[in-house]
Amino acid sequence: MEEKPYFCPNCRSNRVKFNVITSYAQSFMKDALTGNIVEFKDPNPIPEPEATIQCLVCSFTGNEMRFIKQAEREPRVNTSTTTFT
Ligand SMILES: [Zn+2]
Repeated sequence: MEEKPYFCPNCRSNRVKFNVITSYAQSFMKDALTGNIVEFKDPNPIPEPEATIQCLVCSFTGNEMRFIKQAEREPRVNTSTTTFT
């Protein structure tokens, strides 16, 4: 994940609250006759070239780059007369 500002491209009101969505592969062994699960291995995160981010305000989910690009298009204005709450 990048150390860059995010801005949700969907609701365009959130820059601070996000989920990162991670996929895991977890192998397990089944009994061929009964179908019972006999062993679960530890989950392994599946490496992804780009993180998947979810906005916690509107639940929009997309590539990290979409959030970064939106933040670059609409950078947060940081002046003494503008207050975001
Ligand atoms: Zn959003």
